[in-house]
Amino acid sequence: MAYDFDLFVIGAGSGGVRAARFAAGFGAKVAVAESRYLGGTCVNVGCVPKKLLVYGAHVADELEQAAGFGWTLEEGHFDWGTLIANKNREIERLNGIYRNLLVNSGVTLLQGHARMTGANEVEVDGQRYSAEHILIATGGWPQVPDIPGKELAITSNEAFYLKDLPRRVLVVGGGYIAVEFAGIFQGLGAATTLLYRGDLFLRGFDGSVRTHLKEELEKRGLDLQFNADIQRIDKLEDGSLKATLKDGRELEADCVFYATGRRPMLDNLGLENTGVELDERGFIRVDEQYQTTAPSILAIGDVIGRVQLTPVALAEGMAVARRLFKPEQYRPVDYQNIPTAVFSQPPIGTVGLTEEQALQAGHKVQIFESRFRAMKLTLTDIQEKTLMKLVVDAETDKVLGCHMVGPDAGEIIQGLGIALKAGATKQQFDETIGVHPTAAEEFVTLRTVTR
Ligand code: FAD
Ligand code: NDP
Repeated sequence: MAYDFDLFVIGAGSGGVRAARFAAGFGAKVAVAESRYLGGTCVNVGCVPKKLLVYGAHVADELEQAAGFGWTLEEGHFDWGTLIANKNREIERLNGIYRNLLVNSGVTLLQGHARMTGANEVEVDGQRYSAEHILIATGGWPQVPDIPGKELAITSNEAFYLKDLPRRVLVVGGGYIAVEFAGIFQGLGAATTLLYRGDLFLRGFDGSVRTHLKEELEKRGLDLQFNADIQRIDKLEDGSLKATLKDGRELEADCVFYATGRRPMLDNLGLENTGVELDERGFIRVDEQYQTTAPSILAIGDVIGRVQLTPVALAEGMAVARRLFKPEQYRPVDYQNIPTAVFSQPPIGTVGLTEEQALQAGHKVQIFESRFRAMKLTLTDIQEKTLMKLVVDAETDKVLGCHMVGPDAGEIIQGLGIALKAGATKQQFDETIGVHPTAAEEFVTLRTVTR
């Protein structure tokens, strides 16, 4: 049977665009439907605008440090409206780049909501298209617990478009987004409280990293409240919000920001017409090659809930394009040792096993840990400490994990990701000549076993 398209991609986000472009490059006839914004979450309400706001917040640090280097500055004034307008202009530019990338690679771009009407058929704006393969790359959406007053709260989606910087913010959650936005709000001048339901935030990260970041954030004056959760939110007469905690305490704020995880975006997708099944967590169930329970339909990225990171969605998109249209170049995605950064202030960079994971996996571990005041701060009064940590297998000498909290952690950890992928040993780290004077050289000069 002749189909309208070889591949129909639903969602022009990180994974969808990558799969569509490469599939078209391999000679396939490809369509992409996008209902909201080209580039998806990462470009519009994720990585990119987030990083721009993080840069904005970080300027406060630079200004604070300036005096130590002899600079006298007039009192600074921050204007949220300017930052958001400039950010929006940059996002529009990127939207245009994504459009060109798709169109120039020969992909048919359909603007509108896509709904599957069968295992080989998609409807967009009342028009039906047939396709040999359908790729679901619809991403995720913030989820807010069902509490009274939840409609008064905002999520990351809205935070990027707030008219004014709120004066007092309550951030709820203890994952990537909560920690990053707490740093943004506080860095830009809002009195910020982070509420996390457990004992210590960033569950799943290395224990030293979690404790170290907690201490550094507290030094900066961020109000961290653990074992704290909101029961209800009410609007007060003066327009501000009152959050009542489960322990009965009441906190007032101008903004309650929820970052309590993301659900797969499956709204009105027509799954019921296809035989696509969900897993026990509600994400789309796929096999190792991203095939769903319907043989003609594949799924990648946040909607499969494996690792919710842009570079992972890109790798999955590439893998799908190759498997379908260039099988001789197909390589499975390697989910081991994925480097990642949390753009908190200071940031975290991490790759490989945490100390806890290594012990649980039965490794005999040697821990090398160092805490030091970055050279840049020695001319200032700032007492922030950088943490660097290596988790090493005592029997094989292989480095199992590298963890850092400190300036440029994300930049530094990328290179260490290559070292771990290559299976580097501690001895090879030691034999690597450092770059002096940098913070990064500490990773090749850690000589004393801490534990
Ligand atoms: P998305 O990028 O979400 O794309 C899905 C697209 O599908 C969207 O454009 C959507 O409009 C469209 N769509 C949905 N349903 C339909 C439909 N029925 N019809 C047509 N179109 C549809 N990751 C990092 O690696 N680094 C970071 O620093 C980082 N920061 C983040 C910050 C925030 C605030 C958030 C929310 C996420 C962040 N992420 C980060 C995660 C990253 O954005 C996601 O992992 C990534 O975007 C997932 O890509 P995707 O292709 O699966 O989905
Ligand atoms: P995460 O899954 O990272 O964290 C969710 C947090 O919310 C956890 O601390 C969780 O607690 C808490 N939580 C969940 N449900 C509730 C509830 N009902 N009440 C109170 N607290 C709750 O999700 P995020 O929303 O922060 O981010 C989504 C994903 O996006 C991240 O996992 C990451 O993959 C990606 N991302 C990546 C970034 C980067 O690369 N820098 C930046 C931003 C996002 P508990 O731990 O107890 O379950």
